[in-house]
Amino acid sequence: MTRLLPPDAAGIAEAAALLRAGELVAFPTETVYGLGADATNGKAVAAIFAAKGRPLFNPLIIHYASAEAAFADAMPTPLAVQLAEKFWPGPLTLVLERRGECRIADLASADLPTLAVRVPAHPIALALLRAAAIPLAGPSANRSGRVSPTRAAHVLEELEGRIAAVLDGGDCPIGVESTVLDLTPTPADLNGRFPRLLRPGGVTAEALAPFTGGALVTVGIDGTGGLLGPGMLASHYAPSLPLRLHAHDIGPDEALLAFGPALPGAKLVYQLSATRDLGRAAAHLFEGLRWLDHEAARAGLKGLAAMPIPEEGLGQAINDRLMRAAHLPTIPIFPPPYLA
Ligand code: AMP
Ligand code: MG
Repeated sequence: MTRLLPPDAAGIAEAAALLRAGELVAFPTETVYGLGADATNGKAVAAIFAAKGRPLFNPLIIHYASAEAAFADAMPTPLAVQLAEKFWPGPLTLVLERRGECRIADLASADLPTLAVRVPAHPIALALLRAAAIPLAGPSANRSGRVSPTRAAHVLEELEGRIAAVLDGGDCPIGVESTVLDLTPTPADLNGRFPRLLRPGGVTAEALAPFTGGALVTVGIDGTGGLLGPGMLASHYAPSLPLRLHAHDIGPDEALLAFGPALPGAKLVYQLSATRDLGRAAAHLFEGLRWLDHEAARAGLKGLAAMPIPEEGLGQAINDRLMRAAHLPTIPIFPPPYLA
């Protein structure tokens, strides 16, 4: 039985006690729900991989209550310090070199010499991190290969009976995962430059550009099918029905993921944003995919079709997730659109 804990002082204290005892507790962040475990406890970290069915070579993001705590385990570069001041707490993950005295279990970062760290902005996540007083490994709280959860009920759909508790913080305000930026010089000169944008997310490329003019988008798989980074699985956010992108019309057997006025003729529609607001679309993307997939299957439809979304601001993160959901390679874009 997985317990649903309220986001009050007692619920947070209970969640913190479970985590300190090595149990798994899902918690809300501003991006999506994370599946938390004591990142210093190898057995607790192993339980995350087991509960999610996640391949062991896919490293986890470690969550901290402060930049100081994060930089005690991961070595900051000067740019990392600047970015932390500007964007933390917030939806930006930095990949840095592990310190020699790093307390984090090796398994959490898939035995890599690097560590992905972040300070989340959600008040409940921060309260939990302070109460637990340990760094938390926190991948998205879904089964591996499925759509990330943005409310407690989604977590239960995915992991009921497999984890100790879910801290219920309502809907996640941003709705897509954090931006992952690799600031390490390894692997040596991948594409010739660093820092590298490994995953577009809640902090947009436009917001990062003044700090990281040369960031490359290296998400996903390259033109030859080779993986460009650890955990960059092509299919990562998959609904069960096939998804068609850039739809300008709708087939008789398709349900529509709409962005702006819906295409005529669709029998089943999920509207991401009638006014084409990218922030609203991001916040509702995973809920929309989940709902549409479920309802379309129930109605006997055979596929999903998504209307085009502009490749700007949060649209870059949305398109990345849609490409993965459609099993399309997310090929590197160079130069990135904001430098072109
Ligand atoms: P998730 O926790 O499911 O949102 O995924 C976390 C993602 O962060 C992984 O898929 C990796 O792409 C990335 N990541 C975590 N740790 C590292 C690392 N040490 N080096 C590079 N990427 C990482
Ligand atoms: Mg995930």
